[in-house]
Amino acid sequence: MGTTAPTMKFRVSSEYGVLEEIRGGRVHRGVDIAMPRGTELHSIADGTVERVVNYGGERLGRGIFVRTDSGDLHVYGHLDKVSVETGDHVDAGALIGLSGNTGHSSGPHLHFALMHDGQYADPTHLVDRLQHFSGDIDGPGIFGIKGPAVWIAERAAGSAKEHVKSSVQEHVYQFLSDAGAVLLDLSYGVGLVGCALLIVLGAVGLRSGYRWSAVTFVSYALIRLLLGGAAR
Ligand SMILES: [Zn+2]
Repeated sequence: MGTTAPTMKFRVSSEYGVLEEIRGGRVHRGVDIAMPRGTELHSIADGTVERVVNYGGERLGRGIFVRTDSGDLHVYGHLDKVSVETGDHVDAGALIGLSGNTGHSSGPHLHFALMHDGQYADPTHLVDRLQHFSGDIDGPGIFGIKGPAVWIAERAAGSAKEHVKSSVQEHVYQFLSDAGAVLLDLSYGVGLVGCALLIVLGAVGLRSGYRWSAVTFVSYALIRLLLGGAAR
């Protein structure tokens, strides 16, 4: 008995032994675990497929009966798709089908029942295993039909892509503002050099040199004031 419960991938939507109103008040002979249609179901034990059923709109709908090597019977019900045949040996973890909403079911879920010595027994202690073995539990599933783990992974990848995009935008903005600052500095430099040049020209006696250098210096000061103000 652990003190920290593992994260539950799926919710138990109906416990064993409850009276089911939608089934005319019959006692529930299994546990229901709500999961999206198409969730990969894997055998939770080594065993042999004893029976595959398709009751249409009745009861279990599509179901798989696995006789475990220890002699119990595991029943998986309301499946969308069955991937095994009667007589198949399945190892724990083997893909057996996809969950669904077939049969007498009020929403997508896995109905799981346990028979021990020919009697229905409470399978609640197997819920952790069902949680672990449902959805993607190993590599090949990723390339097959999508389970919820893939669904989550794809969304995580999507949001990572979003993040990359926005960080690229940030870099572009940063680059542009850096480039702007460089241009501004460059214009200051050109202005300064121009002023210096004209002052020098004036000093060496070129006619109206001082006047032009004064005009340039004032223009430069104005431009710097304006650009500096804008760039702040
Ligand atoms: Zn059920």
